[in-house]
Amino acid sequence: MTSSSFKFKCFQYFFIIIFMLHVYAATSILSSSPDNSSFNNFLEIAKSPEVFDWMVSIRRKIHENPELGYEEFDTSERIRSELDKMGIPYKHPVAITGVIGFIGTGLPPFVALRADMDALPIQEMVEWEHKSKVAGKMHACGHDAHATMLLGAAKILKHHEKEIQGTVVLVFQPAEEGSGGARKIVESGVLQNVTAIFGLHIAPELPVGEVASRSGPILAGGGRFEAKISGKGGHAAIPHHSIDPILAASNGIISLQQLVSREADPLDTQVVTVAKFQGGSTFNVIPDYVTIGGTYRAFSKQSFDQLRLRIEQIIVGQAAVHRCNATVDFLDEVKPSYPPTVNDGDLHEHFVNVAVSMLGINNVKSAMTPAMTSEDFAFYQEVIPGYFFILGVKNASHKRFQPSLHSPYLQINEDGLPYGAALHASLASSYLLKHHHHVHGV
Ligand SMILES: [Zn+2]
Ligand SMILES: [Zn+2]
Repeated sequence: MTSSSFKFKCFQYFFIIIFMLHVYAATSILSSSPDNSSFNNFLEIAKSPEVFDWMVSIRRKIHENPELGYEEFDTSERIRSELDKMGIPYKHPVAITGVIGFIGTGLPPFVALRADMDALPIQEMVEWEHKSKVAGKMHACGHDAHATMLLGAAKILKHHEKEIQGTVVLVFQPAEEGSGGARKIVESGVLQNVTAIFGLHIAPELPVGEVASRSGPILAGGGRFEAKISGKGGHAAIPHHSIDPILAASNGIISLQQLVSREADPLDTQVVTVAKFQGGSTFNVIPDYVTIGGTYRAFSKQSFDQLRLRIEQIIVGQAAVHRCNATVDFLDEVKPSYPPTVNDGDLHEHFVNVAVSMLGINNVKSAMTPAMTSEDFAFYQEVIPGYFFILGVKNASHKRFQPSLHSPYLQINEDGLPYGAALHASLASSYLLKHHHHVHGV
């Protein structure tokens, strides 16, 4: 062998080795290449059978065993057991059933990814192999998928831990559906050093592979009220011997309609709905009292607080007009009101960059119409810049009737799971990459 052919052979081997390394990096989730471009193949990794099948099986187990807010003991245990298997350290219990995991250097910057874990008191009506095994409870808001996708992100990030320029904080929170688990997580102090938080929600109306969001207000603040209007019961044929709470409550309800139509800026969307009216039990008796209840929604804290103030004044005032007494309860302790969900402008830009490079510009709806529904993700955004987006899980087989969130017929397309996992992982890792220089003062 001549020296020149030896050199040529070495050159050839060198290229073969380089080529093999590339194949390895592209196919193995164990790749720990220091090249940051490896963050680009997160979607590919999430779609690989190893990660996808694992996510599907976790999602189905959580779906079969739904638990209501602050009762997510089995779900929490399942999540911790998966974190244990991956070697991811965590804090537990936080906010009763919450789990807070950590991936990365353990040093700043810190970025959080959030998933909720609770189900709803709904009887599942979908007949399938993995139908809820608990009568009257169902994951009808997709939180089973949320917890699964965050575990998927954890798996991807853990395999790239050496490249992570800071710390990813995984937030598995309890009780999103009405009880404000997010507020308890914030109060626990575990997110003290976190400088940004991302959260997502499945969207059954959006095709798989698509996401939507917007900068600024995206979901309304939502509150509840319950009022008791008391009069004096008696014979329905002798009304002048009674004080009729039904008429007082009815006038109160009519006056509440004027809050949005006459007092709110027409360009500032608000809602007041009385959804509950209970009183009386027979046709010839004026009852002692009635109870009414409902919800109010607005996109700014100022409008929200104003609605709350006026709802109380109107119910109490109209009761007085009709010689009744009224008390209004905003259920702050049991069902705290949720602030508006307002997306940070800089994080919106970050999200659009990440999502467009992963999904293509046509699959990223960056100016979605806000919705009047609420999310307790807003509690995080009160203390940390946060960003919330929706993720397509549309079921192609549902041609005409697409069941909405909270429907007993909700059936999500599991092909959407890799997109959520990859976006979570990518949003966090690239955020840290962008911000670690600031921490070190470079
Ligand atoms: Zn829900
Ligand atoms: Zn939800």
